[in-house]
Amino acid sequence: MAVPYFRLDLDESEIEAVVKVLRSGWLTTGPECAAFEREFAEAMGGGVHAIAVNSNTSGMHLALEAAGIGPGDEVIVPDLTFTATAEVARYLGAEVVFADVLPDTLCIDPQEVVRSITPRTKAIVPVHFGGLGANLEELQAIAAQHGLVIIEDAAHSFPATAGGKTIGRHGTFATVFSFYANKTITTGEGGMIVTADDSVAQRCRTMRLHGIDRDAFRRFQGDSAGWRYDIVAPGFKYNLTDIAAALGRTQLARALDMRARRAESAAAYRKGLAGLPIELPPDAADGDMHAWHLFPIRLTLDAPIKRQDLETALNTAGIGYSVHYTPLHRMSYWHGRYGLGDNRFPVATSYFERCLSLPLFSAMRPDEVEEVITVIRNAFS
Ligand SMILES: *Cc1c(COP(=O)(O)O)cnc(C)c1O
Repeated sequence: MAVPYFRLDLDESEIEAVVKVLRSGWLTTGPECAAFEREFAEAMGGGVHAIAVNSNTSGMHLALEAAGIGPGDEVIVPDLTFTATAEVARYLGAEVVFADVLPDTLCIDPQEVVRSITPRTKAIVPVHFGGLGANLEELQAIAAQHGLVIIEDAAHSFPATAGGKTIGRHGTFATVFSFYANKTITTGEGGMIVTADDSVAQRCRTMRLHGIDRDAFRRFQGDSAGWRYDIVAPGFKYNLTDIAAALGRTQLARALDMRARRAESAAAYRKGLAGLPIELPPDAADGDMHAWHLFPIRLTLDAPIKRQDLETALNTAGIGYSVHYTPLHRMSYWHGRYGLGDNRFPVATSYFERCLSLPLFSAMRPDEVEEVITVIRNAFS
């Protein structure tokens, strides 16, 4: 039985919601986006701003811009992440400083962050790897001591908690979620910036739409001076459509249920793969909630087979898998710019050479999980 790496989890409620927008006469940012933002802020527990954007990447760009990051500044980013986490600093002319990750959580290593700080450092951008919360308390203490801001790349981590608090309400400068097609909830393409700071929210809202001083929807609301607006900066075109927001609202309503199903699959993997020479991803600390976006496994150093052997077994059985991630210091652009070697990132490099991400998605059936477990177990026998 073939098992895909990912399958969408969409039902009639999503299809109806999107069709309703198509019939409504309003496609771009409007009432659905406003409602999505309101409901997302509520899902965070309230008391925060939620600003819908057309991707996590654009949201991260806006957050770094709102932090005033520019040429000459340095931004500390984990080596083991998707390039979007780092590239947004370059959009603004800032330099990226890569830091190694912790061997257990694969989130940025706070001690490596401390070692990476220079007088030019402005921000730390942790990633909640795979949906497991990074060590925010420790990072916040470091940031406070050195006058840095934290912008969380929460692309993997909705819904999740860390240190007993929902990811998105730790009081960092901003937290940015992704609703890309294969993320934990999706709008096709989309993202959300969450911040408790009024002025950060204001700047992100303005820069999300050309630097206009108010939203297009309000502009077309028909007050007699509706054409009046000011341009306060050369902003971007990063707003979300109402079509996408309608999809997001229905996914949001199902988010905890979808997470519970991923958690069930993760628990089945952890049970079924126990005892093999594989390190399994840790669950969240007691009382915390893992989003379970990824299920990354890693062969132990003394495992009798190599990652390539696992790949062959999975390929033969028609089971999808991925690798998260090739460390950024090895990518041509980043290597060309900073010229950093594997020796600077022993944890990320060693992890990368032995890791595989197994299928994990809310629409996954128990028999599909069992099939993956069987194929992996057989690869060792
Ligand atoms: C998916 C992803 C992004 C980018 O999200 P988009 O919404 O596609 O822009 C950024 N960071 C990480 C860690 C991701 O996995």
